[in-house]
Amino acid sequence: AHEFLQNSEKLALVGQLAAGIAHEIRNPLTSLKGFVQLMQEDGMRKQEYFSIMSSELARIELIVSELLVLAKPHASAFEVRDLTNLMNHVVTLLETEAILQKVTIRMVMESPLPMVHCDENQLKQAFINFLKNGIEATSGSGEIVIRLWCERDKVVIRFEDNGVGIPEEQLARLGEAFFTTKESGTGLGLMVSRRIIENHRGTLRLMSTQGRGTTVEVCLPIIS
Ligand code: ADP
Ligand code: MG
Repeated sequence: AHEFLQNSEKLALVGQLAAGIAHEIRNPLTSLKGFVQLMQEDGMRKQEYFSIMSSELARIELIVSELLVLAKPHASAFEVRDLTNLMNHVVTLLETEAILQKVTIRMVMESPLPMVHCDENQLKQAFINFLKNGIEATSGSGEIVIRLWCERDKVVIRFEDNGVGIPEEQLARLGEAFFTTKESGTGLGLMVSRRIIENHRGTLRLMSTQGRGTTVEVCLPIIS
């Protein structure tokens, strides 16, 4: 009976997630459908319609690509990687966006970093999500410090921003699918990232003070 209950709980979760996804994708689809119809009736404003349509398409693409990470089997492509290189690459990827938002990203390595056993693309995706959230929270004279160090059998990675922070009543809801406080957020980033870190046998922790900033802490096991 116990096992059966567990399965039905899992099914309920899948149902909730499916309902959320369907809802999130239906909105931009409905809008696309509307514009296709408008274009049939009035071809004059094509350019205007096209640009809205392409942003709706981009939104569907974003939702689907974030969700795809959840669909990947565990330990899909684990390899030994140099964490310093990996993080440097991630920072490079986000540099333009950071400059545009007037946010500086600084990396502080407090000890030599080890190799980690990881799915490189997934780990990068998680780090990109944390940094993007940091940029979005600090926009304006913001600063993000990525602090990394080794501790016995693990490596600790902290993303510290001096952004808006998270109100206490919202902290508990983070990582819930589709929970977002942003106008065009998907609310999938943290959920997907947590899953990625857990797939790496790591842990994820968020600490935040409203009005002062947020720290995202990732611990990953060091390969022995
Ligand atoms: P999204 O970025 O699409 O909103 P996420 O899952 O990445 O979805 O984040 C969920 C919510 O958590 C955000 O909408 C925001 O309210 C909060 N959040 C996450 N990271 C930070 C941060 N560094 N600073 C402030 N709020 C954050
Ligand atoms: Mg996000």
